[in-house]
Amino acid sequence: MPPSILWLCRDFRFRDNAALAAAAAAGPVLPVFLIDAALRAQGAASRWRLQRALLAFDAELRRRHGTGVLVLQGEPWDILPALATRIGAWSLHMNDWPDPATIAAQQRLGRALAGTALRLVLHPGHLLAHPRALRTGAGGGAYRVFTPFARALRAIGPDRPDTRTLRLSPLADPPPGLALDRLDLAPDLHGGRAVLDRHALPAGEAAAQARLGDFLDRAAGYAAQRDRPDLNATSGLSEHLAVGEIGPRDLWAAATARAKADPAASAGIAAFLTELIWREFAWHLLVECPRLAQQPWRPEWADFPWQGDSAELTRWRRADTGIALVDAGLREMRVTGRMHNRVRMVAASWLTKHLLADWRLGLAHFADSLTDWDPAANAMNWQWVAGCGPDAAPFFRIFNPERQAAQFDPRGRYRRRWLLGWQGAAGAEARAYFDSLPPGWDLARAWQDRATPERLAQGRARALKAHAGFRQPPDH
Ligand SMILES: Cc1cc2nc3c(=O)[nH]c(=O)nc-3n(C[C@H](O)[C@H](O)[C@H](O)COP(=O)(O)OP(=O)(O)OC[C@H]3O[C@@H](n4cnc5c(N)ncnc54)[C@H](O)[C@@H]3O)c2cc1C
Repeated sequence: MPPSILWLCRDFRFRDNAALAAAAAAGPVLPVFLIDAALRAQGAASRWRLQRALLAFDAELRRRHGTGVLVLQGEPWDILPALATRIGAWSLHMNDWPDPATIAAQQRLGRALAGTALRLVLHPGHLLAHPRALRTGAGGGAYRVFTPFARALRAIGPDRPDTRTLRLSPLADPPPGLALDRLDLAPDLHGGRAVLDRHALPAGEAAAQARLGDFLDRAAGYAAQRDRPDLNATSGLSEHLAVGEIGPRDLWAAATARAKADPAASAGIAAFLTELIWREFAWHLLVECPRLAQQPWRPEWADFPWQGDSAELTRWRRADTGIALVDAGLREMRVTGRMHNRVRMVAASWLTKHLLADWRLGLAHFADSLTDWDPAANAMNWQWVAGCGPDAAPFFRIFNPERQAAQFDPRGRYRRRWLLGWQGAAGAEARAYFDSLPPGWDLARAWQDRATPERLAQGRARALKAHAGFRQPPDH
């Protein structure tokens, strides 16, 4: 049987991996990972996380099947046809990750393959259902509102995970590639790498499954506590999902089985599944409307008088706004690559409303800093907070960070963890923030509270004034 190439992108798992199963069923498999322009354009923290996923998968592949991942540098349309000719492969399997950059690469690869014997085969599994499977009853268009989308997805039911047993035979004599032990996908992290390494959660498929098991054991508290950054209430699965160490169909199946077996957890699990549907909705929107990642989903918002880059924005990026919850969240992100969802909303609201800064500047900073970076979730959520996305929060809903902190971090535990000097605290995590700063960021001083009532009110008033002077977009 001729060998197949398995092009790995964000699918570093053995369970529910349709491309891997199909390639393995067809004969010897050569798993390949490419360092291409699309990867280099991604944020540093997400490249760092992807490398950890790649290394964990490679180690597991060697342990199970005695072969590793071939890592090559170059563009898919140049590398893959030549590789196929060299090893005599007829098929190239890939799990579909429908972001605009990957779709463009697939199209260009498709053109390069015209007239060759190599066939590109795309497999589902990155999402619960095909992104175009859900259509509105009225007119058969794409959904723009979350609630009916969620209802429709629950009604058709997500696709089942692929449970084929893998019998993978490696290619006898794979070509040489880059040495994985010397690979550095994120050289631009500089000193931040050591800090991220210190605070990293375990990577790999086994770690993702363990995290899922741990979460399901405590899922009963999820519905009531998921907004509390001071508690360990959410799943923490987003970075595993972002690099495909676990698939959403598998997650859905495991969570629904647990809800059936443990009625006390069912309300928490239902709330968790709703969040997974938000991820699905984001991808549905991105596939339907690729400009979501760069342009306001509501075109009328192109004229909104957002401010450009500024000294205030630099302070926001440096987690030095003087607003406790905002800075705590931005510091958590700088040190760990993670940030609690509630705090992401508050930090994003501060940028888009109080600073009136263009949401794309915040989006870019998150894309560079988050280990769970996901082009669809990041874009949809930034647009949701800014008010220019589908089913977005109305612009006048301006988070008051002090009230949010009082409600969701009532004893200040989260803020104390991340702010050196806040209420006399000095946690190890807060100090780690200073270790992560690149040279020239001279902020190594205690945190100072600048959240005066006047400052909060002024920002709010300025945002509302800008909005009042702006032509109200028609409702979609
Ligand atoms: C401004 C902003 C930017 C964001 N950028 C990203 C991003 O780049 N990548 C990312 O994965 N999430 C992003 N989110 C969504 C959310 O903050 C994270 O998914 C969540 O914090 C991850 O933690 P968890 O796995 O413990 O979540 P849980 O509460 O355990 O949720 C389970 C899963 O549901 C999905 N999910 C939860 N909330 C959302 C949401 N609001 N939108 C889409 N999917 C969701 C995630 O896949 C998550 O892992 C962003 C939110 C905001 C407000």
